[in-house]
Amino acid sequence: MVTIEQCPACQGETATIVCRYNGLVLLKDMQTSDLARYDYACCHRCGLVFATRRPVGEEFDGLNRNFNEFLGRPAGENANPLDNEHPLTDADRQALRRALAGGWLVSEDHEPGAKDWMPWLLADRMSQGYHVDWLSASVPLQGKRVLEVRSKTGFLLDALRRYHGAQVFAMPMFESQQFVIERLYDIPCTRRVDFEQFDVPYEGQFDLIITKHLLTHALHPGRMFQTLREHLVPGGHLYLYAETDDTLKYRKGKNLFGEQKCFHFQSFDLRTFVRVLSWQGFRVLFVRHPKRGDSEMTCLAKWDPEVRGQSISDEELSARLGMYRAWHDGSALGLPADTQQALGEDMDAIRAREHARADDADSPRPLKPGKAFRLTHEEGYRAVNEQRQDRRPT
Ligand SMILES: [Zn+2]
Repeated sequence: MVTIEQCPACQGETATIVCRYNGLVLLKDMQTSDLARYDYACCHRCGLVFATRRPVGEEFDGLNRNFNEFLGRPAGENANPLDNEHPLTDADRQALRRALAGGWLVSEDHEPGAKDWMPWLLADRMSQGYHVDWLSASVPLQGKRVLEVRSKTGFLLDALRRYHGAQVFAMPMFESQQFVIERLYDIPCTRRVDFEQFDVPYEGQFDLIITKHLLTHALHPGRMFQTLREHLVPGGHLYLYAETDDTLKYRKGKNLFGEQKCFHFQSFDLRTFVRVLSWQGFRVLFVRHPKRGDSEMTCLAKWDPEVRGQSISDEELSARLGMYRAWHDGSALGLPADTQQALGEDMDAIRAREHARADDADSPRPLKPGKAFRLTHEEGYRAVNEQRQDRRPT
């Protein structure tokens, strides 16, 4: 593990620890691992919450080999093959070829069998199709060079090529995604995303780079932004989607320990997102929560060397720190007993702080959900714990 002393977005040197643990603390056999301690801190200059301890080399590779389990997703028959983090076997390839044979728009009157199509391809286009509209309305695309980082199915690039004649390139996460993008859409897809040594394996610069849920996952955000800038034409556009707003996750009552997944190195709200981009040379043209009440955020920014880094106000920083304190303690109280024990914190002290907060007029109570902080994938974590228990040699 390495410790970072400065904020990876703005280089700010002052930060307050807001949560010691990541989501690995929810897995019994990982609770005492060094990998479960990220010491997340909130930067006093830009408001970013970032892991001050980060895995390196083999530690990070080990996390990636367990990608799904560490997110609370047990192995299952109905798992989406596009989420498969493992190298493909011959049988996997054969199954994918069969499922892709009819394309993504499969007519229901043919009643394809479950193995003869991939409903996830259509689902992705249905849920994410608005990006085509927003980008078409905001960015010149005719004949432009477009890169998507962390493409899952490649449909967005397919649409930009089909309707705007854009030259498109993809960088998926997993081999399963690479196989689908190449085979179904014939989009160049030479290498996958490496979150540790992030680079772009294509020559030349792009007019538009699209990134999905990338800032949250970047192991070295400063270097990642530098690479993105180097691969953008001057004044090029950066479109970031599927980044989540931590304030909304708090308000919706999501358990902090479940949200600080071991692959999540940065957390931010909408205004912090804008500030982080400003420190990295990007001027935000728009940022929105596309689905009302949902934490997801979509942002279009323009690379602009003139942009100046924005700092968080004292008032906003204090509200943000207060929210994280309330979120941490409330979430700790909502954890299973064995996880509470593993936190190594005095639960009595957490309870006492919760009581004090209830009497404190300045606490962020009005925002606080009126229910316990619930773990996303609670069932999944239970199943993964059983799965890992069964695998362990006796
Ligand atoms: Zn910062």
